[in-house]
Amino acid sequence: MNVITVVGARPQFIKAAVVSRAFVAIGIDERIVHTGQHFDANMSDVFFEELGIPSPTQHLGIGGGTHGQNTGRMIESIESVLAGDRPDVVVVYGDTDSTLAGALAAVKMHIPVAHVEAGLRSFNRRMPEEINRVLTDHAAEILFAPTEAAVEHLRAEGIAGPSVKLVGDVMYDACLFYGAKADGVSEVLTRLGLQRGAYALATIHRAENTDDRKRLESILDGFAASGCTVVLPLHPRTRGRIEAFGLRVPGNLRLIDPVGYLDMVMLEKHARLIATDSGGVQKEAFFHRVPCITLRDETEWVELVEAGWNRLVPPGDPGAIATAMSEASGRIGREISPYGSGHAAEEIAKHLGEQFP
Ligand code: UDP
Repeated sequence: MNVITVVGARPQFIKAAVVSRAFVAIGIDERIVHTGQHFDANMSDVFFEELGIPSPTQHLGIGGGTHGQNTGRMIESIESVLAGDRPDVVVVYGDTDSTLAGALAAVKMHIPVAHVEAGLRSFNRRMPEEINRVLTDHAAEILFAPTEAAVEHLRAEGIAGPSVKLVGDVMYDACLFYGAKADGVSEVLTRLGLQRGAYALATIHRAENTDDRKRLESILDGFAASGCTVVLPLHPRTRGRIEAFGLRVPGNLRLIDPVGYLDMVMLEKHARLIATDSGGVQKEAFFHRVPCITLRDETEWVELVEAGWNRLVPPGDPGAIATAMSEASGRIGREISPYGSGHAAEEIAKHLGEQFP
């Protein structure tokens, strides 16, 4: 049995890392195609090195264009990889242009697609990620859902039965495995001169927050008004927008380059609170039991809001952001365990191994 995995963006490297280890453990032959969507050393290479992901057999070098340009070029290149190297199954992750391109290229060549993190919905069709995930789910033959809510979303769209497998969340697996490792390896707190529990950690990268000048300025103003030391590992898109819009960076904000996963886990674990628009970081806050505010109007990870670990805050309202940050400090939610038992990657490998012996 052999698999081609298509990845291209940071969160996909982290998800693929744990599944690749599970593939190796049961002897599944995997080749990795990297589309090139994220290509900087600190957005890509560091994850392959640090997380021990097998080197990509193909690097397509596609990025920097519009959604249409990138997706189109990726489909064309992935199709020629698949034509030369017909795998039993193509595995795609999450909701980026690389996910959709991998799914479309494979399904039209009658190669089964397995979608890891299937069934997530924000119900906001203006998000490019929402379009990517809906279309990928409808192209996929095997849908690995992380939560009960995701299974329900699929059912509501007519996707049900044995093709849908509730396996848990591979990000939880990653957090358990690499979280334990981070303590012994990461020196990020010393390097940045940070005291445990004395700073907020923030990440901002969604187009809806970065591409609108007023929104981005409002978020920075909210951080300023919070009075906390806010550590912000800057996604390249966000850095580009701050510079292009000529926005003033408040003095309590520590802008740093994106960090590797082990440093990120360390920063998350010891933050007083986390403010983010990232899907992955919302969950990681919960895994480390750190209170979180999400700078979006909706979230795919609704269970964390319902249980009180996370709170949605309108990104266009600096006063609301500052208030939510001060109220978040020390807030504790209800204990829940919606993301499985930390064995999602093993479940995925096992199912694929059985389906394609
Ligand atoms: N992350 C990281 N370094 C950083 C910022 C984020 O390793 O400087 C990790 C983070 O811990 C999470 C993942 O990247 O596991 C989230 O990726 P991102 O926010 O880009 O995407 P999303 O989860 O929103 O799809």
